[in-house]
Amino acid sequence: MKSEDDRAMPVSQKLQGIWANRNSRMGIFLSSAHLCGIAALFFWSWPAVLTAIVLYWITGSLGTGMGYHRLLTHRGYKVPKVVEYFLVTCGTMSLQGGPIEWVTTHRLHHAHTDRVGDPHTPRDGGWWAHVGWILWGTAQKHPEAVIARYAPDLMNDRFYRWLTRNYYVPLLLIAIVLVAVGGWGVMLWGVFLRLILELHATWLVNSATHLWGRTRFETGDDSRNSWWVALLTFGEGWHNNHHAHPTSARHGLRWYEIDMNWIGIRALQLLGLAHAIKHVRFNPVSSAWQPIKSERVR
Ligand SMILES: [Zn+2]
Ligand SMILES: [Zn+2]
Repeated sequence: MKSEDDRAMPVSQKLQGIWANRNSRMGIFLSSAHLCGIAALFFWSWPAVLTAIVLYWITGSLGTGMGYHRLLTHRGYKVPKVVEYFLVTCGTMSLQGGPIEWVTTHRLHHAHTDRVGDPHTPRDGGWWAHVGWILWGTAQKHPEAVIARYAPDLMNDRFYRWLTRNYYVPLLLIAIVLVAVGGWGVMLWGVFLRLILELHATWLVNSATHLWGRTRFETGDDSRNSWWVALLTFGEGWHNNHHAHPTSARHGLRWYEIDMNWIGIRALQLLGLAHAIKHVRFNPVSSAWQPIKSERVR
């Protein structure tokens, strides 16, 4: 039953109330982005498709997998600061929050995997783990004290503090350039259709790979290795491997476990841009996977 105050409240004030809530803003944005992504299908062209594919790789592999996840969150390898900033800026274009927020969320996930305190465990529901936590949960918003505890390394970096407040800016600039150079169809494919596909792919790592797939390691959580999520996310689907060895920059441990992000990190190494790479190797004598850190990966 609505209160007297609620009925008396002008529409503009109600709208302001909705807008002031970060979850509602996110809901409005995600719904609109899905509509724009569907609209993109009516503006099909080869340049548009190619733009979407290239941006899917730049933002999903270079940005989210290699940048936000394996470099920033787990420090699985090292690169010169300028390369790190480039990869992380690519990561902002997945619109999954700024680097400090994303890293805090993900370190929380590793610290409390599938237990109380995990922001997105399927034990609270598959849909919750997929997108519910963004629409109704913490999303990427954390109290200052939690950020200070989980991402102090990034809080000391001025660029990351700025980028976290303005994480939508790089994609906004790309969108303007795409409209100017390629027209609306290219922008709709490169920004919106690419974005919603990539968001669902990343969310599948939180939902599907904690529900379905094979386990190689006893990790004490529900993480699984999923080949199809790995294909969609450039290797992030080898999630049981990852929970067993979080700092390993390599997630696909066997030759048949395709891990494009690992190939990307190897490419950076061959270019002399990545070093101190942590990974694991199977030791047949002890019959166990052992962590190693090497300048040269054989
Ligand atoms: Zn996980
Ligand atoms: Zn991780």
